[in-house]
Amino acid sequence: MLLYTRICLLLLVCAFFATHVAENMANTSPVAPRVHSGSTRASEESKSTETAAAKPIVERKVVIIGSGPSGCTAAIYTGRALLNPLVIAGYNAGGQLMLTSDVENFPGYTIAPSGPELIFDLMSQAEKFGAEYWKTECKSVDFTQHPFRLELHNATVMAKSVILSTGADSIWLGSEDEDKYKGMGISTCATCDGFMFREKNVVVIGGGDSAMEEANFLTRFANSVTLIHRRDSFRASKLMLQRVQQNKKIKLATHRQVVKWHGEKGVLSGATLVSTETGETEEIQCDGAFIAIGHKPNTKFLNDGVALDKDGYILHESNTMTNVPGVFACGDVVDRRYKQAITAAGQGCQAAIDAEKWLEELTSSVEH
Ligand SMILES: Cc1cc2nc3c(=O)[nH]c(=O)nc-3n(C[C@H](O)[C@H](O)[C@H](O)COP(=O)(O)OP(=O)(O)OC[C@H]3O[C@@H](n4cnc5c(N)ncnc54)[C@H](O)[C@@H]3O)c2cc1C
Repeated sequence: MLLYTRICLLLLVCAFFATHVAENMANTSPVAPRVHSGSTRASEESKSTETAAAKPIVERKVVIIGSGPSGCTAAIYTGRALLNPLVIAGYNAGGQLMLTSDVENFPGYTIAPSGPELIFDLMSQAEKFGAEYWKTECKSVDFTQHPFRLELHNATVMAKSVILSTGADSIWLGSEDEDKYKGMGISTCATCDGFMFREKNVVVIGGGDSAMEEANFLTRFANSVTLIHRRDSFRASKLMLQRVQQNKKIKLATHRQVVKWHGEKGVLSGATLVSTETGETEEIQCDGAFIAIGHKPNTKFLNDGVALDKDGYILHESNTMTNVPGVFACGDVVDRRYKQAITAAGQGCQAAIDAEKWLEELTSSVEH
């Protein structure tokens, strides 16, 4: 059943790229150095100029960087405000939900859509209101000038306002066969996927507060939770660790690392662990694995163009606006706590409304 779901999921992803983002890829990918200058959806305000040698320059009122739930929602709202948003989708078009099968907690669906299906719906809705998706990455930004300058691989975009929705990628272990079982037993989100492991045996990897939180949370569903950590000292707070130690369903496996994942019929069934003390290996059975070793916000390309916290998350200064007037941020790239599709979407809406109001004020201040 799971294998069948996975095949369907892959087909959906292919359809998704074929119908939505790929169409624009030819215009923006490094191998095809031409930006579509006369898009049928381009508004009056959106112009582009091309010279033989230089990269084409495209002008927009709103550019959204990132195409996960927050970016897509910002695109729906700015599209409906007739701002003709350009969405720079990134090379992980659709964002993190593209990695997951059933999304059971997004409001409005009684039959859970797959992650790619949900993103497909969001993108289609945004396109309906004039949003345009380019499958390319933003390499760098210059927020010291206005309009803001965004460098893509083969185009420069001048934007009156920018919405940053680049997410925070989960940090993975990089163990053998991890990619094979991502979404097929291996997850990085207990809130999202814990429910699917009722009466199963799961492992959690990590030694910080989020690993403790995930382990405790998973005991609501799972028969047993093994917390694997490479040391016997933990970064987690004393209280969180104590809760884990007192929970009868949780077993601690310290001085251990996962070196390889195993599966049956494409679904996770176990792992090989190595002792960080003796180097001995052992095989364990598990139906699910939750990797909780942190997130990395995708903000490197901003090169400190906006204020970040110590871990690289974007800081809001006023509502969803950053310390740079006209630059807004939403979703997981600002959110250290919730990291859910619905919270990202909600903040995408807020950022779009804030950008719209800011542009309105900018126009009226220029007119008066
Ligand atoms: C395995 C897994 C399962 C999950 N399941 C659920 C679930 O069931 N329910 C739920 O509510 N949440 C779930 N989540 C969490 C949810 O996916 C995230 O909270 C949500 O996707 C965050 O949305 P976002 O738009 O902020 O960022 P993301 O979805 O991470 O999107 C970021 C976007 O930014 C783009 N990007 C990054 N850098 C650049 C750049 N330089 N230039 C251009 N684009 C760039 C990427 O290509 C991507 O499109 C799950 C997460 C994971 C990892």
